[in-house]
Amino acid sequence: MPENLSRKRICIIFTGGTIGMVPTSDGFAPKQGVFKSELEKIKDLASPDMPAWELVEFNPLLDSTNMEHIHWNQIAEAIGSRYDDYDGFVVLHGTDTMAYTASALSFMLKNLNKPVVFTGSQIPLCELRSDGAHNIITALQIAAEGVIREVCLFFGDTLIRGNRATKYSADGLLAFDSPNYPPLAKVGININYTSEGRSYAESDADRTESEFSVRLIDQFDIGVIKLYPGIHFEMFAPIAEEGVDGLILETFGAGNIPSYDKSLPPVIARAIEKGTTVVVCTQCPQGTVSLGAYEAGSVLVKAGALSGYNMTTEAAVTKLAYLLSLKRSKKEVCRLMETNLRGELDN
Ligand code: ASP
Repeated sequence: MPENLSRKRICIIFTGGTIGMVPTSDGFAPKQGVFKSELEKIKDLASPDMPAWELVEFNPLLDSTNMEHIHWNQIAEAIGSRYDDYDGFVVLHGTDTMAYTASALSFMLKNLNKPVVFTGSQIPLCELRSDGAHNIITALQIAAEGVIREVCLFFGDTLIRGNRATKYSADGLLAFDSPNYPPLAKVGININYTSEGRSYAESDADRTESEFSVRLIDQFDIGVIKLYPGIHFEMFAPIAEEGVDGLILETFGAGNIPSYDKSLPPVIARAIEKGTTVVVCTQCPQGTVSLGAYEAGSVLVKAGALSGYNMTTEAAVTKLAYLLSLKRSKKEVCRLMETNLRGELDN
């Protein structure tokens, strides 16, 4: 017999995004104080088969393009301060940076043992053909069922691990993909969970305690450099000299960089000398970095760059920001960056 979800309590955290936007003379924008009544128009949300839910509305509501680490902290604190009061959380968020926030939260919520389901929509709830109601109803069911107890993202027909997610379509209703990790559930007539959820638990190498806790992220400066044929690294010398917190290199294929450019190794070496953590990701959506597989990539290893393996750029940026905020030694940051902490990479 299906579990009675009505006994479950879910907290909906509404941060903004298209799902709750209204038309304005400058295009869609979030509007404070109207979302609750939009939700109340969705009949299914009042069904006795649905979990009880309460809404927490952020102020201001954001188009997610304006999200910064302070907003990730706000979401993490909103969950942390209510953790014992609810069986799960649904975070309503704009799609543009949802994969970044979901990745960040996966690191920030340590020893999480409840579902935190991110969702949103491509069409506002107040518009015809909105995908919002389906996404919210299903996300609430997933949060109440509690099968997946990690930070995840539901959109369209698929539940994916938050730190494996990437926004894949600017206008499709199946907007997210998880190119390097299988879905946690496929949603059709039924919600069919796979066996992929939470298989990372044993390798959670940054655990210092076993209780749930929230770690906030400090202000960070991380540059993302996407290589293209003909790129000259000399132009990044000032960045290397400045000693930014991190550089993520989106390299070709398995971690390859051009060898015509003799300025690259010294620029990377200088950045590392100045305290920058340099991480090598691939610009291929699918597959992994394999540093040293080609001569064209081994120069990065020699210069001291770290492998991002098959992490998305979203996961690499937020993981590095998280690790830097832990204030551990440089050596430890490098070790943890290459270690699977929350199921974000395979190595
Ligand atoms: N710009 C919007 C946002 O990310 C797009 C969306 O929600 O789909 O907030």
